[in-house]
Amino acid sequence: MWSQHWRSDFETAAEQSFDVLVIGGGITGAGVALEAARAGLRVALIEQNDFASGTSSWSSKLVHGGLRYLASGDWRLTRESVQERQRLMHDLPGLVSPLDFMLPVYAHDKPGRWALYAALGVYDLMAHKRYSHYMKPAAFCSHMPYLNSDGLRGGFVYRDALTDDVRLTLRVLIEARAHGALAANYVRADELLFEADTVVGARVSDRETGQCFDIRAGVVVNATGPWSDRLRAQVDGPAQLRPLRGSHFVFPFHVLPVARAITLFHPTDRRPLFAIPWQGATVFGTTDLDHDQSMDEAPRMSAAESDYLIEAARHYFPGRDIKAADALSSFAGVRPIVRGAPGASASEESRESAIEREKGLITVTGGKLTTFRVTANDVLEQVGVALGRRFVRNEKAPIIHGVQGGEHARGAVRHGPEFVQMASRPDDDTRLGTTDYRWRELRYALAHEAVVHLDDLLLRRTRAGLLLAEGGLAELPALESLVRDTLGWDATRWNTEVERYLAHWQQVHAPA
Ligand SMILES: Cc1cc2nc3c(=O)[nH]c(=O)nc-3n(C[C@H](O)[C@H](O)[C@H](O)COP(=O)(O)OP(=O)(O)OC[C@H]3O[C@@H](n4cnc5c(N)ncnc54)[C@H](O)[C@@H]3O)c2cc1C
Repeated sequence: MWSQHWRSDFETAAEQSFDVLVIGGGITGAGVALEAARAGLRVALIEQNDFASGTSSWSSKLVHGGLRYLASGDWRLTRESVQERQRLMHDLPGLVSPLDFMLPVYAHDKPGRWALYAALGVYDLMAHKRYSHYMKPAAFCSHMPYLNSDGLRGGFVYRDALTDDVRLTLRVLIEARAHGALAANYVRADELLFEADTVVGARVSDRETGQCFDIRAGVVVNATGPWSDRLRAQVDGPAQLRPLRGSHFVFPFHVLPVARAITLFHPTDRRPLFAIPWQGATVFGTTDLDHDQSMDEAPRMSAAESDYLIEAARHYFPGRDIKAADALSSFAGVRPIVRGAPGASASEESRESAIEREKGLITVTGGKLTTFRVTANDVLEQVGVALGRRFVRNEKAPIIHGVQGGEHARGAVRHGPEFVQMASRPDDDTRLGTTDYRWRELRYALAHEAVVHLDDLLLRRTRAGLLLAEGGLAELPALESLVRDTLGWDATRWNTEVERYLAHWQQVHAPA
């Protein structure tokens, strides 16, 4: 179990030597830590900010095969992703949940009805399940009443899955810890350590205390996503990334009411977009463009991206008069994409993962949330090569253990089996504003899930900061005593944290 004092795990790290040091606490690093710990290796993972605070918080939240990759002929990636989707839905019920998508077909659309019919047939075949079917316009519109029906010829329904990307990452980390891995947030790798031109660890700094120490390991895995070229530069690895930003709006459900998800093509450039019902709100995105903001700052949606998304929302839902100002929040993430052929457009770049081994440093980039287990097993193979050992691929083993049905099954899947053992309190079912988050879940997260700052609680342990107006400002007074009592913060610390959180929210998540 994680405790609030998880840092004590790391106090002795300086004197310990690990088999594997994983740098980066997104889904890729979490997956590698889990598979390496399961293989019996001694594993330490460090994350420079909060866990999953990089790209792994800002995805479209889909666990999906990616119809788009099928269209571009990337069959292997699609099949692998569909199969992983099926496994994750099975292993993490309530955390990775089936989601039906509507796909409208308009007159003169390309690809047209029959091409889509064939593609969805293949998609279903890959899952060994028949999910998709066609609907005539009237039936289609009855499921999507606000959709632009001008030229609508009907449409398809197909199936993918939805998750909370941060919670997925945290759950994988919790499981890694259950297998003996150590994991610390707010610890940054500043410099790689070398012996005879081979990487043997990293000099790290604790960003809360300022303390620096060395962590030594048989193998170091660079899972720093869009930042990975920085560590690679220390082993003379040539820069290989093309960071691509994608942004989303979160609208209140009544502004963009979609009971099912819908796939749309932007009226200007035909790029695919999604409107997705998520945690009582509607997520709408995404964009795909070269990221020209500093990698030292949290990415944010630009005014041009906001206009682009609003143009599509107004085109497809003309009666809703949708404006950026109607949104609850916005968020942006940077895809860690390996640069392909010169001149390729952002959307043409491959989403496949890539693994490099340079002077003992294993760098893993690209990939998708959906395929993290496949990626982690690919990395483990390379770890085995470096350590002179062979590991059996483990990607079919259930991802979590010890979860039974019953009253707190949702909590156990999301947080781990200890959630069920927490003593009940009379206010357990109190909700945080209009969200689904209950006091029991918040109390558990505060006590056991390495919350260091208020934004960890409001943007990652919960996503309340994206789902409530002004980042949940109105709920802060109700939260104060719960947070202060559990974390032992005095009034000054609380006020500093509120200021920090609101400033960050205003800069990064306020709708443009
Ligand atoms: C807009 C968008 C939509 C997407 N939608 C989907 C989707 O619907 N489904 C899907 O499957 N995939 C999706 N993806 C892809 C998916 O989100 C990413 O592939 C995945 O999250 C990458 O995870 P990662 O762990 O490699 O990187 P990250 O999550 O960025 O993790 C890297 C971590 O390393 C840390 N770090 C960096 N430097 C250091 C250092 N020196 N020391 C310590 N820590 C360090 C960072 O703080 C960061 O947390 C989407 C991506 C984007 C951008």
